[in-house]
Amino acid sequence: MPELPEVETVCRGLNRVTLNRPIQGGELLLPRSLATPDSVADFWQGIRGASFAAWQRRGKYLLAELVREDGEGAGYLGVHLRMTGQLLWLDPATPVNAHCRVRLLLQGDRELRFLDQRTFGRLWWVPPGQPPPAVITGLQRLGPEPFAGEFSPVYLGERLRGSQRPIKNALLDQRLVAGLGNIYADEALFLSGIRPTTASQSLGPSRLTRLHGAIQQVLTTSIESGGTSFSDYRDIYGINGNYGGVAWVYDRETLPCRVCQTPIRRLKLAGRSAHYCPHCQR
Ligand SMILES: [Zn+2]
Repeated sequence: MPELPEVETVCRGLNRVTLNRPIQGGELLLPRSLATPDSVADFWQGIRGASFAAWQRRGKYLLAELVREDGEGAGYLGVHLRMTGQLLWLDPATPVNAHCRVRLLLQGDRELRFLDQRTFGRLWWVPPGQPPPAVITGLQRLGPEPFAGEFSPVYLGERLRGSQRPIKNALLDQRLVAGLGNIYADEALFLSGIRPTTASQSLGPSRLTRLHGAIQQVLTTSIESGGTSFSDYRDIYGINGNYGGVAWVYDRETLPCRVCQTPIRRLKLAGRSAHYCPHCQR
């Protein structure tokens, strides 16, 4: 599943190539991929002729500001890739495969194509004059970005105070911090020496400071290498990132810990796999 670094990589790629090319049309091949508006005709009417002015990432959401040639705002296009969504930048002549859900044809004979094998990914068009969270309601529930000043060891301490739930579960909660998923939560817990099952409330200031630093470190490392190669994630040219080669614990069950050689263990937490080193993480 794409997490913050993968979505950030896609966002940067989109900002490099898709801007200032009016959307000339396209195809919606799977109607449920479009969350709003209900009317497909309204969707095309809303975005046709508009260009992407800038893409931004919020948590795992992508948000593009749309603008018309006369400079008037045309709302926003929101995208969430969920499990298997991909945005690819293609020559429109590229054969369309069975997982293609949406095609946006842009001026200059280029196409932004949305592929999604599992079909949980969604697109939203936010009409002009409406704030994106009014339409993309998941945005309302997002906690701070991991690189925002608001996200600090003190913030973590305040939010986790009195919480019995395992720290791994807390890190997956997008209301605590936006953008972390299974891979980077496992990796950050390894780097900070904290076992995933640790009750959140038992983490003191020094361990919270280590955890905060480890979250920023694993995300930075992955963004710098263009995301991971763990899943179906691809950048907008269909190329896998390479963070997978350096994972500490994620998806390494029974393999020796890279620090102490103890076999990595896996357990289930909140329905997800958690990977950890029983020696390095206490
Ligand atoms: Zn170890």
